[in-house]
Amino acid sequence: MSVIMEKEALDVKKIRAGFPELLRSVNAYPLVYLDNAATGLKPSAVIERMRAFDMLEYATVRRGSYKIGEEATEQFELARADVARFINANPGEVVFTSGATQSINLVASSWGRKFLKEGDEVLVSAMEHHANIVPWQMVCAETGAKLRVIPVDDTGELVMDEYARLLGPRTKIVAVTHVSNVLGTVNPVRDITAMAHGEGARVLIDGAQAIPHMKVDVRGIDCDFYVFSSHKLYGPTGLGVLYGKADVLESMPPYVTGGDMIERVTFEKTTFRKAPARFEAGTPPVTQVIGLGEAVRYIQRVGLGRIEEYERELLEYGERTLSAIPGIRFIGTAPGKASIISFTLGDIHPHDIVTALDHHGVAVRGGHHCAQPLMDRFGVPATVRASFAFYNTFADIATLAEGLREVVEVFS
Ligand SMILES: *Cc1c(COP(=O)(O)O)cnc(C)c1O
Repeated sequence: MSVIMEKEALDVKKIRAGFPELLRSVNAYPLVYLDNAATGLKPSAVIERMRAFDMLEYATVRRGSYKIGEEATEQFELARADVARFINANPGEVVFTSGATQSINLVASSWGRKFLKEGDEVLVSAMEHHANIVPWQMVCAETGAKLRVIPVDDTGELVMDEYARLLGPRTKIVAVTHVSNVLGTVNPVRDITAMAHGEGARVLIDGAQAIPHMKVDVRGIDCDFYVFSSHKLYGPTGLGVLYGKADVLESMPPYVTGGDMIERVTFEKTTFRKAPARFEAGTPPVTQVIGLGEAVRYIQRVGLGRIEEYERELLEYGERTLSAIPGIRFIGTAPGKASIISFTLGDIHPHDIVTALDHHGVAVRGGHHCAQPLMDRFGVPATVRASFAFYNTFADIATLAEGLREVVEVFS
């Protein structure tokens, strides 16, 4: 990726031509896909790489006794190295899981059961996805540790003074999201981490929503764990990443046990391999890992700098255009937020809004977005969420606004 190319603006027309699903229609309208916070569409580059692999290169990995197995293993580990470079980690610090959800469960179960005890505290925030709440609740119930919550202010920012007050010698781990999947708030994860480390606590960052929108540098953040899903980064489903600092991973017992993660098994005793193999029991999702490797290379070709800049323009246009809709209330107005807009529209139920928009081929999400405590915080049962990717256009947003105007007319 040359510096000169990064300076050129994004060629959205050309990019869209590389996402086949964008060419389809829905209810006789062209698809306007604005649910990117739920999952990203796949570029041809990823689809074709996986197809080519499955057609002629497929074999299981890490058995290594014949040529095609060796080649598949090479491709598999190359993808791991590319993912590691993408987040500024070492390949040995990248564990493949089934998704961000499983990555967090792995840490809560393995690290949590070993290091948490009665009287310890786990800090999460009021804007967490259920995936970063429930696993901690479970391990707290099991160990006697206590779950405490960093509050969120009216704009959707973490109250950092309260965070500082909650932190203490009892805090053993802080688990917060990098970017809120509802509010779009970008949390100051570097500061959060430094403050936690000052108290000797570990830090897990849920990067599911950050990874498609911004350059992530796990060493720069200095967090102990960073998790994300492949499918929100324009890769396949069924695959996620757990980054863990090498020494921290090494201190943790296996989460799932079985084949491929052992050194030696006898019926008396089993010894385990080092990370990441220790956490990758069984046959891994080989084709999906190859696909994620290609997704990462694809994103780097497009350029995260350009993606960030263009998505900021989309967000500004979206906020400006939607703010003119009568009765709209934005949930999440933090400065510097990512390209996610949540809102309510008078008393109209979000599900009615979503259904009406779907009739026009516009896909947005309505509901609690797996963040019920956050809905409670803002006193709403649900919101409508439009989330933008770099393949969305200003015209997509204009279509959304037009649809919303119609909804207001029909329901008032
Ligand atoms: C989507 C999401 C998750 C869960 O990701 P899965 O791919 O469903 O495992 C966790 N946290 C956040 C913030 C998310 O947006």
